[in-house]
Amino acid sequence: MSQFRIAIVGAGPAGYFAAQALQNSETEDRTFAIDMIERLPTPWGLVRSGVAPDHPKIKTVSKVFEKIAAVHNFRLFGNVELGTDISMSDLTSRYDAVIVATGSSLGRKLGIPGEELKGSLSAADFVPWYNGHPDFAGLEVPLDCDTAVVIGAGNVAMDVARMLALNPAELDPTDTADHAIAALKKSAMRRVILCARRGAEHAAFTSPELRELPKLEHTNVLMSAAEVEAALLRVGAEPEKDVKNNLGAMELITQKEPTSHERTLEFEFLLAPIEIHGRDRVEEIVLGINKIEGNKVISTGETKTIKCGLVISAIGYSAEPIDGVPFAQGKVDNNDGRVPHSNIYAVGWAKRGPSGVIGTNKSDAAEVVKLLVDDLPVLPKNAGDVSDLLKSHSIITQSHWEKINIAEVSAGEPLGKPRVKAVVKEELLKHAGY
Ligand SMILES: Cc1cc2nc3c(=O)[nH]c(=O)nc-3n(C[C@H](O)[C@H](O)[C@H](O)COP(=O)(O)OP(=O)(O)OC[C@H]3O[C@@H](n4cnc5c(N)ncnc54)[C@H](O)[C@@H]3O)c2cc1C
Repeated sequence: MSQFRIAIVGAGPAGYFAAQALQNSETEDRTFAIDMIERLPTPWGLVRSGVAPDHPKIKTVSKVFEKIAAVHNFRLFGNVELGTDISMSDLTSRYDAVIVATGSSLGRKLGIPGEELKGSLSAADFVPWYNGHPDFAGLEVPLDCDTAVVIGAGNVAMDVARMLALNPAELDPTDTADHAIAALKKSAMRRVILCARRGAEHAAFTSPELRELPKLEHTNVLMSAAEVEAALLRVGAEPEKDVKNNLGAMELITQKEPTSHERTLEFEFLLAPIEIHGRDRVEEIVLGINKIEGNKVISTGETKTIKCGLVISAIGYSAEPIDGVPFAQGKVDNNDGRVPHSNIYAVGWAKRGPSGVIGTNKSDAAEVVKLLVDDLPVLPKNAGDVSDLLKSHSIITQSHWEKINIAEVSAGEPLGKPRVKAVVKEELLKHAGY
């Protein structure tokens, strides 16, 4: 019987699914001891700090994570950051293999003048702010304006736009951070315009999210019927399934009876950001008007200016580099998850870049773990763990996390919320009993 010691860095979906795949790969002759290292005092990655709070059903996947964590061969080392508290060589010399599951947390820049102005933010900062991520609790989000422009055409852009355009009272029964609900309630925001660079047929939204929009109870949702019709003509009789579903969902939005709520969410296609203007904060954004010729999106040379006080870009993410891990093109430099010439592997967004839903990380992690299992005969035989390095550190073990979880859920119960998130690290440690 051989026992292999595996460190997984990052307690997001990819990390948990890698742990699950290792648990499923145990045999009579082979077991795994899994140590999961997470920089925050709380696990679950973007399921806690990314997924929109008005989509609580999606967060129920955390029950699967907790089942994986309850297996006897799993230990959580939360509040431990790779690159700060421990180094990659600490891990590669102590464990047989190290799986990097650190995600992709840096927002891609628009690269346009004015992007650094106050009131111009990345979704990579705004989303964790409203989701109570401790690193973003103090983010300055100027909401004293009536119009916001969101740049992007994926589900993150749609989440951001919807969160800004909902009546904030709708967030009361959710686990949105208290500071965000308070700020949104005070906000003057009434018009949110989502601008996509290409046509409706090119948008990366998914149709279930689009289909939700006409059901919003306190927000007018506007999309140009002419643009959707033009997109339908451009894609012809047999578009790809996802495109067909999206355009069908968009048609439903355009066909909805007009409403006259105080708040409006507008979708604009074929607009590319050129410049943000403002003296000491965002005052307007200039967008280039595009058109489609053949299969190409090209500029018309004309522009459109939108007066606004907030611009949020949601155009993708790249991974934050970590010392001792090779990175290229915004993700871990890997071959199908193997980092060549090492006992390091990568899974999830750290491996693939920011694509795929939570479930995508399950099959992806299972494939990488299969390769790792194939490699076991040639991996170094190490027999340590990180405990000796963290003797005076406030480690959040699984039982500490359970105390935090209970404290948050109990605080939410009388308010009809799934939980009230603690957003200050010291408060989280206090809940844990430190
Ligand atoms: C705004 C947003 C909304 C989304 N909504 C949905 C949705 O509704 N439905 C859906 O299916 N998918 C959704 N997704 C996609 C889904 O969240 C991802 O597919 C998934 O989270 C990727 O998992 P991951 O484990 O690779 O990364 P992550 O979830 O980002 O987890 C990475 C973990 O690594 C930790 N970490 C990072 N660096 C270190 C370090 N140096 N040391 C230790 N730990 C570290 C982080 O703190 C984090 O906990 C959304 C994504 C975003 C950005």
